[in-house]
Order: sequence, then C-alpha cells, then structure tokens
Amino acid sequence: MASSLSLLLLALCALTVAEAGLRVFNLRATDLVPDPIGPCDGYVKLFLGSAKLGTTSVIDNDDNPWWEEEFAYLTARQHDVLRLEVYDRDLIYDDLVGICETQIKKGNYVYYCNLDDDVTLYFSTTLS
Ligand code: CA
Repeated sequence: MASSLSLLLLALCALTVAEAGLRVFNLRATDLVPDPIGPCDGYVKLFLGSAKLGTTSVIDNDDNPWWEEEFAYLTARQHDVLRLEVYDRDLIYDDLVGICETQIKKGNYVYYCNLDDDVTLYFSTTLS
C-alpha cells in the first residue's frame, strides 16, 4: 500500500514538473511600419497553442511601443508554441504587421523576432 502511494506521489510530482507556469512580459517593438496617414498604433495578441493568452493595450502614435502588460498561463509545457501577432489599429481594418512564433523553453529568456525587414519584436518569457 505504501509503495503505491509513493508511486502516486511520484506521478503527481512529475505532472507538476511537466506543467508549469509561463509568464510573458516586457513586450516592445522597434520601427513598426507607419500608416500612410501617420505613426503606428500597435498592439499584440498572444496565443499559446490554441489558447489565447490575451491582448495588449493599443499604444497610439508610436513606432517604438513598449507594452507594460504581463501575461500568464498556468498549464504551459516546454516546447509549446508561443505565437505573437502584432497589429496596427486603424479606423476600418487593423493591419497585421507580423507574426512571431517560438517554442517556449524552461528558464528565463529574452527573445527578439524580425517581423519584417526593419520591424523587430522583443519579449521575455519565464517558464518554471
Ligand atoms: Ca494606425
């Protein structure tokens, strides 16, 4: 009986290790492509696999925005695909500036993604 309990505890521990919290934060972009009518109004949608992590606020009139929001997901696994979609808000139709996809890794990382020739998206992740 004691040994099966130990096995169960071991399985629970393994599950805890495999599924851990993901944090995505410190999102910023440089040289977002400006509208024909003015600077970019950028925001980012975040997904982990098919799950939506959230959307940043829109930062108006800034080609080099820095978003202060932090996003968390409790059941993230190593190698899950994190997808960030950068948009420029417009009156009628928001332009997709670019998409960044990466497999998350355990630990603390700072990523940079070239979305276009000049546009770069930076963000940090922590997976425990
Ligand atoms: Ca715009």
